[in-house]
Amino acid sequence: MQGVGFRPFVYTQASRLDLRGRVRNNPAGVLIEVEGNHGDIVQFVTDLKANAPPLSAIESVECNHYLQPADYADFVILESVHETANAGRDENFVPISADVATCDDCLRELFDPQDRRYQYPFINCTNCGPRFTIIEDIPYDRARTTMREFEMCPQCRAEYEDPTNRRFHAEPTACPACGPQLSLSVSPARSVIGVTDSALTVARSLLLSGKILAIKGIGGFHLACDVLNSDSVERLRQRKYREDKPFALMAASVEIIKEHCQVSREEEELLLCGRRPIVVLERKPDSAIPRMVAPGLNNLGFMLPYSPLHHLLLKDLDRPLVMTSGNVSDEPICYGDGQAVSRLGKIADYFLLHDRRIHMRTDDSVTRVQDGREIVVRRSRGYAPGPIRTRLRFETQVLACGAELKNTFCLTRDNYAFISHHIGDLENLETLRSFTEGIDHFKRLFHLHPEVIAYDLHPEYLSTKYALGINETSIKIPVQHHHAHIASCMADNEIDGEVIGVALDGLGFGTDGRLWGGEFFVADFVAAERIAHLAEVPMPGGAKAIREPWRMAAVYLQHSFGDEFVNLDLPFVKDLEQRGWPTLRSMIATKTNCPETSSMGRLFDAVSSLLGVRSFTNYEGQAAIELEAMADRDSADSYEFRIGSDGKLIEAADVVRAAVSDLLGGTAPSVVSARFHRSVARLIATIADQAREERKLNRVVLSGGVFQNILLLRQTLGLLRSSGFEVFTHARVPTNDGGISLGQASIANARIKSGRI
Ligand code: ZN
Ligand code: ZN
Ligand code: FE
Repeated sequence: MQGVGFRPFVYTQASRLDLRGRVRNNPAGVLIEVEGNHGDIVQFVTDLKANAPPLSAIESVECNHYLQPADYADFVILESVHETANAGRDENFVPISADVATCDDCLRELFDPQDRRYQYPFINCTNCGPRFTIIEDIPYDRARTTMREFEMCPQCRAEYEDPTNRRFHAEPTACPACGPQLSLSVSPARSVIGVTDSALTVARSLLLSGKILAIKGIGGFHLACDVLNSDSVERLRQRKYREDKPFALMAASVEIIKEHCQVSREEEELLLCGRRPIVVLERKPDSAIPRMVAPGLNNLGFMLPYSPLHHLLLKDLDRPLVMTSGNVSDEPICYGDGQAVSRLGKIADYFLLHDRRIHMRTDDSVTRVQDGREIVVRRSRGYAPGPIRTRLRFETQVLACGAELKNTFCLTRDNYAFISHHIGDLENLETLRSFTEGIDHFKRLFHLHPEVIAYDLHPEYLSTKYALGINETSIKIPVQHHHAHIASCMADNEIDGEVIGVALDGLGFGTDGRLWGGEFFVADFVAAERIAHLAEVPMPGGAKAIREPWRMAAVYLQHSFGDEFVNLDLPFVKDLEQRGWPTLRSMIATKTNCPETSSMGRLFDAVSSLLGVRSFTNYEGQAAIELEAMADRDSADSYEFRIGSDGKLIEAADVVRAAVSDLLGGTAPSVVSARFHRSVARLIATIADQAREERKLNRVVLSGGVFQNILLLRQTLGLLRSSGFEVFTHARVPTNDGGISLGQASIANARIKSGRI
């Protein structure tokens, strides 16, 4: 890894043992020559592995014992021999570090009145600070980062050049005399209220008096306010166009988070780790945090401060702050000052800015713990561009373009998959620009020249159009969306060979031109055979049916009861007329704008609306997320899906009829929700049993957006494991469409290798 302080570490270790020699970076890693007595050298090698600096990751140490003695007089760090930009395609690369949260040494200095960086919001060192977000090009040195605009003062330069200093070659190093400065201004005009010290003091008191601040951070802007001030939270929601998406929170310490949430040991470790993700935690019922922070949910997303600015802002604050992405509705996070002022001007009362440019916009990552293990929900700041190491060997370099929602792309070489930071929903020009610029940036940073382009089958995705528009002579490989989901989970778990694949999802383009999403496969990396799927139903209005779950509820009711369902004595039925059921019915009858879908996500939507949970959504997956949140955790009953005589077609009508009869009989919707969840888990177990019998397969791979549902995931894992299956779920890449690019790349690679393109 570049810029993690490995050479100075080697220098210190060698000097301590009085060894002489040289250390330098070479394209394959680090090359060390040491001379001295045998025992010391053995000790040196042991120490290298045992005490390596926190950001380095030693993949292997190779020793060639007998070099001709060169009689070195000292131990010296040599400058890197940098490769030229036009270097050949087979050359090695050195990975680039993700951004790293402020380390303990820097924190001590930050709060030490004697230190020259006391309360300096941009303090960093070799072990911490911005990396990926400020790097413009390689090799990684200051001249190729956005820090090049700040000339180091003599003191900073002396530290930077001193191998024994902890800031030796810390490229973003800075101090109050020479580095970036804070400023606070009123929106949208940039009349500055204060700089650095006073900016911080005033910003804190503004927050505590109920104001909304736009704060420029590491990878983009946050919108911040006092979470215990419900007026502020309400105002923030309204100004962000009343969207219901949960707001992320930041607290000064784990102790404060524990006042509001259950925090397990694993969750605490994640909160404290250098990646500093948002960790989704279970809310305590008595927490004083207003419900509107995360409407309809029992979870809160918390993170700890990860930049010195955050530490200063939250110091001694007894309450968390809202720290949500600085964007408008569905747009990507703002990262340029001008852009932020124009887009966030109507939302924020004040702007806390600084003059260090952000080169790569990177959202906060989101993660959670299930079964004692981390499952990443959004892989971005702190994680990207760290490659995923896999056992697959990528013979040719692949660019996989991902899907549309929660897009990421992926580039491969050797045993690495470089999955991009979270790009967002590829639905507007701003996101498309981040996508294409991101691809170019990754190619340059990692010296990649993909010859194979993998993309989704959906002809309308912007990522597909991008792939098809590349007019280089590359091999282009379309990949079915749900096959990609399964392959992604296989690559995530480093398994190979045939598996039973369960892809439950919102929507993906099927090989028959229909919209799939409730799919069971026998699959490997090359091919996927669809062995069972949810029976298709119409999706009246197409995309509109996704935003209006009541449409899917009406479809499933009609499907299960015929047109007489309107006479059922259900609250849901009372609103039908006014919502426009007659129009919908004729659309279905004439098959007008009614694509057919086998999506499990849409069935969750239907049940959510039927139970009166949510009939109109304003963020993706909301209906299903709220359906999960309200489910009665103590209920153990379930309904039964009917599986066609060929074992292939799964009918939901019985489930819908049973749920309706429960509702009519007075069963609480929370119990019906729980029963529905368990029905889906049992369906998965049944199909898996069937496939095991017929195909002699015992490994089940679970993927697709529906498995973000932790209740369903837990029930499914329980049932499958108790019948002896080996079950694989996502951990390092998301189960949602953020993981698709890895699956596409793995499939393209396997097809090239096997010659089945
Ligand atoms: Zn540090
Ligand atoms: Zn300085
Ligand atoms: Fe998907």
